[in-house]
Amino acid sequence: MSTTITKGIIASPGIRIGKAYLFQTGKIIIPKYTISENDVASEISRFELAIEQTKNEIKGIQEQIAGNLSKDTADIFTSHLMVLEDPQIEEKVRKEIIEKKKNAEWTINDISLELINSLASIEDDYLRERIIDISDINKRLVANLQKTASPSLQSITEEVIVFASDLTPSETALMNKEHILAFVTDKGARTSHTAIMARALEIPAIVGTINITSLVKNDDLVIVDAVHGQIIIDPSPEQIDEFRRYQEDFRELELELAKLTNLPAKTFDSEEIFIYGNIDVPEEMKIIKDHGAQGIGLFRSEFLFLDKSLPDEEKQFLEYKRVADFFDPAPVTIRTIDVGADKVYAYTNTYRERNPSLGCRAIRFSLENEALFKIQIRAILRASHYGNVKLMFPMITTIEEFKKARRIAEESMDELRREKIPFDEKINIGLMIEVPSAVINADILAKYADFFSVGTNDLVQYLLAVDRISEKIAYLYNPLNLSVLRFLRQIADVARKHSMPLSICGEMAGEPHYTMVLLGLGFRHLSMAPIYMHQVKKLVRSVSIAECVEMVDSLLKLEDTEDIENMVRKKFKEKFYDLP
Ligand code: PEP
Ligand code: MG
Repeated sequence: MSTTITKGIIASPGIRIGKAYLFQTGKIIIPKYTISENDVASEISRFELAIEQTKNEIKGIQEQIAGNLSKDTADIFTSHLMVLEDPQIEEKVRKEIIEKKKNAEWTINDISLELINSLASIEDDYLRERIIDISDINKRLVANLQKTASPSLQSITEEVIVFASDLTPSETALMNKEHILAFVTDKGARTSHTAIMARALEIPAIVGTINITSLVKNDDLVIVDAVHGQIIIDPSPEQIDEFRRYQEDFRELELELAKLTNLPAKTFDSEEIFIYGNIDVPEEMKIIKDHGAQGIGLFRSEFLFLDKSLPDEEKQFLEYKRVADFFDPAPVTIRTIDVGADKVYAYTNTYRERNPSLGCRAIRFSLENEALFKIQIRAILRASHYGNVKLMFPMITTIEEFKKARRIAEESMDELRREKIPFDEKINIGLMIEVPSAVINADILAKYADFFSVGTNDLVQYLLAVDRISEKIAYLYNPLNLSVLRFLRQIADVARKHSMPLSICGEMAGEPHYTMVLLGLGFRHLSMAPIYMHQVKKLVRSVSIAECVEMVDSLLKLEDTEDIENMVRKKFKEKFYDLP
């Protein structure tokens, strides 16, 4: 047994040691493990059950397509059934499970590959085509075996570390934190919504490993070191001891930082900094308050839309009111739905766009679906009567878009007045600055908006033309790129000139490494996941605005991102702490 160490991108910090659990969605990964003599009979039953389910599935497809498609197409499925009913193949699988004690998925996959290889060498077009049939059946059988072998993430009842090719934000949102110690994925990047969700739930996570699911097997002992960004498979006893100590140090640091909860976020030179929370799932409300947040800077309303059925006005109103009430008189900034891109929900997924990040997402989706948009706006307005609610539109690209969205909000206000339903007549309506055009036109947008909130996750993506969820080009996704810093400076300057309230709610706001940079650029209102709030506050309390400004002035004179990073890191170490 040898130890393997793989690197990835830290999505949510922490250190966990536990058993691996491979969770498969979409892409079929063949789990490979040996079974004991005692498990042979149940493994064969699993295989038989999967055969039955697969046959039923195929018969179902045949019925569905009967009459609609050509005979040739229907025949494909007849030949699939014939393969499944071939007693020789079935017998071979059984025999191998008994003799080689390999699990059913592994056995089926090996036999399929053997068959495919032998067919590939035959000069006969008909037989060659059967290769596709066999690989299709292989996939179906393995998928059905997986259904019996792996329950959904929600039903996991023992402590495990989940490994998956990818997870959707909703799969992550539904994770049971009690049992899922951490998760690791092949895909994803730091600002993908799955990563954001992991931070929200405080589940340590590493994403973008590219191939972790082909390295780890079910039940392997693993260390997820989401402090240094590494996964250690089959660690040595010394490594386990070492990481248990790290885990302890990390916990102590967290406890130490927690003492800051009720202390003000004031710099050495007495400048008050405001720290708000980003809500991604309702469970966070309390954690955010307990971490000492001064309200909600970004309420991502998408979680309400996770189900296939749309939430009606009343349901949305009650959720918004609950949060507004809970934080009152502190502000709660509710962002209208931002679906699309990596946040795809059932009802927006009727057609696939070629470039979803550049497609019909966020405010574009809302303006296209005005009836839905109005329901949400009415619900937010009604909630504003019960607290200090602000209404925010995501991904504003053009000035007309903001004017139109605002006009719809004003129409909804008129409706509510007519219906004598109370709402805050002075509700602030603002926008997220997350597209370069909004930065460039910020001075004009300032005439129409009540506040700006900078969404650096998307701003960096659109400014640098780097897909925020791509693990392949994650190295390019860098908020310290000079162009990003120049942009942020420009926004802060425009906001100051126009007395426009300004906050920042992208992940950058919640990364202690960037706190000095943001303060130096002119930001005073930071909204973030609770997990980093104490660290950010600690940093705020350890610096003066004057030294942050001085640092930023020096940064803006540098050209290479690496040099900027080095200077930021050096300063961070001086002011805060270094990782063990
Ligand atoms: C952002 O883009 O920075 C942001 C906060 O919005 P989201 O991550 O939900 O796209
Ligand atoms: Mg965004």
